[in-house]
Amino acid sequence: MSVVLDAIEIKKSGGALDAATIEAVVKGYLTGDIPDYQMAALLMAIRWRGMTYEETLALTVAMANSGTRYSFPDSVDKHSTGGVGDKVTLTALPLVAACGAPVAKLSGRGLGITGGTIDKLEAIPGFNVHLSEDQFRRQVEQVGMVIAEAGELAPADKAIYALRDTTGTVDSLPLIGSSIVSKKVATGAGYLLYDVKAGSGAFMKTAAEARELAELLVRLSESMGIRSSALVTDMDTPLGRAVGNALEVRESVAFLRGEETSPDLAEVARDVAVRLLQLHGASDAEQTVADALESGAGYDKFADVVRAQGGDAEALADLPVSPNVREVTAAETGYVASFDALGIARASLALGAGREKKEDAIDPGAGVEVMVSIGESVDQGQPVALLYGTRNIDRAADFVRQALVVSGDRVTPSPHVLDTL
Ligand code: URA
Repeated sequence: MSVVLDAIEIKKSGGALDAATIEAVVKGYLTGDIPDYQMAALLMAIRWRGMTYEETLALTVAMANSGTRYSFPDSVDKHSTGGVGDKVTLTALPLVAACGAPVAKLSGRGLGITGGTIDKLEAIPGFNVHLSEDQFRRQVEQVGMVIAEAGELAPADKAIYALRDTTGTVDSLPLIGSSIVSKKVATGAGYLLYDVKAGSGAFMKTAAEARELAELLVRLSESMGIRSSALVTDMDTPLGRAVGNALEVRESVAFLRGEETSPDLAEVARDVAVRLLQLHGASDAEQTVADALESGAGYDKFADVVRAQGGDAEALADLPVSPNVREVTAAETGYVASFDALGIARASLALGAGREKKEDAIDPGAGVEVMVSIGESVDQGQPVALLYGTRNIDRAADFVRQALVVSGDRVTPSPHVLDTL
């Protein structure tokens, strides 16, 4: 029998694959020797039978080794499992770099309800996200921070993920864990913080599920020689006030310049920065991060990165957003009990801030600005959100109205960092 048929039989009956078999299957799929239908059958067997930790690690290694591997042992990286209004990379990483820990970050684009850092950065005029390995390395050395679009790292993961996406096999913990960590291993940073989101706007709906994934990500990364830790953070409501590309860069810039921003964004961005610096060996990380915010060093670092990648740093102070703005108002008086992240994400997607399919063109100036926080009192008719953009405005307004839950009773906001490990 062929290696893949053997593997299917073993997984179907609940057995475990050895590392050599996993490597042969990954290689065979990438070369085209193993067709989609056999790989899909194997993935479905894994989806139902699971994988031991040793199998998951072997799959991680095989996918990480399937293409180029960078090496930045002194640099830090972070990974978010994706959320709505998630601007932690744009806020926490310049602070970390300003505090002396080099940042080597590869990011992706948004798809569906999840935004992508690369789309956000492209809202800055001139910003170049396409860097060669040489340019990437030089910028880490010269500027201390770089963010570029992930290219051909871990190509086996890319191919397998595309197949999982169309065969109902995404929702498998070992497949998710190995997929994420293989890309991080290929990026090569020595220190890594995972921000695993939990809630309606996230992949993982509960904090318990998010913790399970976080534990696996940290364990796999540590096994691969990367110093790692993780936070589980709330994604029942969007992070901060802005959702949409240019809007999110504006909010990040405001935070880095020390202007008043929403407390949830400030809490998560600071926490991520402090933990990354602690991983990297800083002794008084909290004070160092506070100083970088206070002095504007974090903002200066972000402006340096923008300039180094061809962007217009002068434009950061007042980045253009869509001039077409519509208010959405509260239907009743009371306290904000929930402003559902999934609903806001759908509104932002409808307005053109995201893409339904990979080829869709986005509107960088489109999105939603949330004007109230959980626990705040609202009056009927009070503006609760601003919609930016020209596409599907009525549909977007409906999504936002449905996302807002107003209660007659006082509401206490929950913490934004739900768990740490
Ligand atoms: N993100 C990834 O990179 N891989 C998965 O499998 C799921 C989310």
